[in-house]
Amino acid sequence: MKRLFRRKKKAQEYVKGDPFFCQFERLKNYPYLNSDIQTDILIIGGGIIGAITNFYLSKHFNVTMVDKSRFGFGCTSCATVLLEYQLDDYAEDLLEFMSEEEIVQTYKMGLSSIEKIQDFINEYGNFCHFSKRPSLLYTKNIFGESAIEKEYNFRIKHGFNAKLYQKENNPFNFDFQAGLFCQDGGAEFNPYLFAKQLIENSTNQKNLFENTEISTITKTENGFIASTNFHEKIFCKKIIFATGYNFELFKPPTICTNNISYTIVTKPVPNLKILQNTLLQDDKKPYHYLRLLPDNRIIFGGEDTKFKAQISAFVAQRKYKKLEKELINLFPMHKDEIEVEYSFCGAFGETDNNLGIIGKSQDPNIYYMLSCGANGVINAMYGAEMLIDQLNNKQPPLSDLFSPQRDN
Ligand SMILES: Cc1cc2nc3c(=O)[nH]c(=O)nc-3n(C[C@H](O)[C@H](O)[C@H](O)COP(=O)(O)OP(=O)(O)OC[C@H]3O[C@@H](n4cnc5c(N)ncnc54)[C@H](O)[C@@H]3O)c2cc1C
Repeated sequence: MKRLFRRKKKAQEYVKGDPFFCQFERLKNYPYLNSDIQTDILIIGGGIIGAITNFYLSKHFNVTMVDKSRFGFGCTSCATVLLEYQLDDYAEDLLEFMSEEEIVQTYKMGLSSIEKIQDFINEYGNFCHFSKRPSLLYTKNIFGESAIEKEYNFRIKHGFNAKLYQKENNPFNFDFQAGLFCQDGGAEFNPYLFAKQLIENSTNQKNLFENTEISTITKTENGFIASTNFHEKIFCKKIIFATGYNFELFKPPTICTNNISYTIVTKPVPNLKILQNTLLQDDKKPYHYLRLLPDNRIIFGGEDTKFKAQISAFVAQRKYKKLEKELINLFPMHKDEIEVEYSFCGAFGETDNNLGIIGKSQDPNIYYMLSCGANGVINAMYGAEMLIDQLNNKQPPLSDLFSPQRDN
């Protein structure tokens, strides 16, 4: 027997503030593990990414999912969730890491992941405020214009439905220099409620355990023993890490860098309209992103900083103030109506090619499901299909681009 992983003693902080999405409706309680059990596949981490993985994999395999806290209370509770097919960087910049054809495939993967969420909603009902939305990527800077134009040309060349707006034909009620509008570019939902729906509708209800932390993992002849903080043992053949950016149990693949993104949610602003409730993103570095919630609150995020073991309350307060100022600059005519009610921040990971770290690790029985970048949720919808293929010894399309063993 060989001990592979042991949890670090010092806890890190991944979320701070008052996350908005889990304020109103709670997932039902699941028990903590209080005896030894056996399972084929153990998923560690029950945030939105673990919930997606568990929902789809448990249709095919014997799966158990555990979380050290309540399901959905990690970074899931503070994700802004603009579900978009575009990646964080422009196609032109991604060419350093992927071929043109691969970029097109990842964009198409994003669109089909949104359809897959729509299929889930059609089958299980819309209890998570899901809506398809157009997306707008805009620049207020004259120097940002040509990059937006190039991205527009790339989309048109490859058959995506895109429109280029300029100052003269801007149909939105705020100013920009240029904007790339995609009518079928995205969707939105409440991430906590989507995780709730996935977990409560999964087929393995008896194999879901909250408040069950995995503190060590030992490799044996037949698989692994994952031991909990209360010394219960889970005997399993395969392990999937869906721990988010929570790297106390294992060292992350070096291709992932961790950041903190900051978010404010206003009180409802009834008079504010955004054309077709479009999802908005600017081109600043770091960029800002915005959407309207169903009750016309504005959720506005960005101002990312590097992740440190503890999130500084002082920095967070400064970032929330900066976000408020940016928001008022965007919609000065609503200055008197904009009142921030919630502010919070959370960790997220980034990779050079903007894709998650999903698939088999060097140990063929250990898998990662770490959804990085702004498209974490979209990546995971596709990632669950990839994992099913890999667990069935098939090589799914695009798996090299997501591989934990890649070098960018
Ligand atoms: C501010 C912000 C905005 C974002 N905006 C978007 C967006 O617009 N669109 C998008 O697609 N994505 C977005 N993301 C990213 C997306 O939210 C993340 O990809 C996703 O929320 C992470 O979910 P997760 O399930 O991986 O992590 P988490 O929700 O953090 O879940 C991981 C879980 O693992 C558990 N865990 C960790 N270690 C152990 C252990 N040893 N034993 C048992 N359990 C353990 C934790 O308790 C936790 O519940 C955003 C993220 C942030 C922070």
